[in-house]
Amino acid sequence: MSEILDQINSCTECEVCIEVCPTYMVTGQFLFSPMHRLKTAKKLFEGEEVDEQMIESLYNCAECMRCEAVCPEETEITKIVGRSRSKLFERGLGPLDKHNKVIEGIHACMHKKHHSAKNGWLLIHIICMSCCNLITFLKGLNLIS
Ligand code: SF4
Ligand code: SF4
Repeated sequence: MSEILDQINSCTECEVCIEVCPTYMVTGQFLFSPMHRLKTAKKLFEGEEVDEQMIESLYNCAECMRCEAVCPEETEITKIVGRSRSKLFERGLGPLDKHNKVIEGIHACMHKKHHSAKNGWLLIHIICMSCCNLITFLKGLNLIS
């Protein structure tokens, strides 16, 4: 854990990463920037309270690593976001209700007596297609490469 906190504390708040983050570019909100995610991660790993918006921001990170590519401190932001999501789960703050609904939907499909495997894989396929479409959309806007 100290390794993660060392990484977080290495941030000098130079703000270079903000300009390349697709979630910040789309929303224009500091809440959805790499720097804010680091601040939230710090709170999480130090046992402090985090609010719903902070949790949402950690889950909205696309883990595209664009922030890491420009960070002069080589802060491993995507790794910190990933570890933060695990920490949210440990503290009973994640996954979000909408994630649970998707998981429940997949389980329900997989356990149906008829067409179970077919329906489950169809749902997974739809989810994957949605992600691919989002990536294509962001690429089209030159928000990711
Ligand atoms: S990994 Fe991508 S989406 Fe996540 S904070 Fe970094 S630039 Fe933003
Ligand atoms: S680029 Fe690195 S050091 Fe600068 S604000 Fe972002 S995470 Fe912090």
